[in-house]
Amino acid sequence: MKLITNVKIFKELINNFNSFSDGRIDKESLENTPNRLAKMFVNELLIGYKESPEEILSKQFETDNNEMIIIKDIPFVSLCTHHWLPFIGIAHVGYLPKNNKIVGLSKIPRIVKCFSRRFQIQENMTSQIADSIFNILKPEGVIVITEAQHLCAQIRGVQAHSVKMKCSAIRGCFEKPEIKEEFLKLL
Ligand SMILES: [Zn+2]
Repeated sequence: MKLITNVKIFKELINNFNSFSDGRIDKESLENTPNRLAKMFVNELLIGYKESPEEILSKQFETDNNEMIIIKDIPFVSLCTHHWLPFIGIAHVGYLPKNNKIVGLSKIPRIVKCFSRRFQIQENMTSQIADSIFNILKPEGVIVITEAQHLCAQIRGVQAHSVKMKCSAIRGCFEKPEIKEEFLKLL
């Protein structure tokens, strides 16, 4: 992504709002806004496009057993594809290692960041997190649960301030009820 192009686009957008508001927009305060917006999108809100799940999960360790591992309450912020408004929430990830292969604790939150810091739909993001762990680490199974509040449902449209959306993605052995049950009990 080229920052200069983005700044130009945001400048045009502001000019557009300015003509719509009959010039009543405070142009002085907005002077640096195109630059700020471009930096915010490229370096923060969409930084996930620059990260590679393969690289994040490349360093694997051996453990003594193949017991279930759960990383819960991973905070994330994502940007809804439809309205470009944030949805904010937490993710819980569980996996059952195969052949004693695990990854460091920080890697799972990094995977969540890699997929959340993109234009997203919560359902797709949840599946992408599960698929990347399942395909790269190759555990017996993986489960991902995300819950989030969507600003696009809070400040526009239905304006439901307290509504939360929960999504889940289940791969491999977590499809077995007793394994899924164990995860939910430990969560
Ligand atoms: Zn939306």
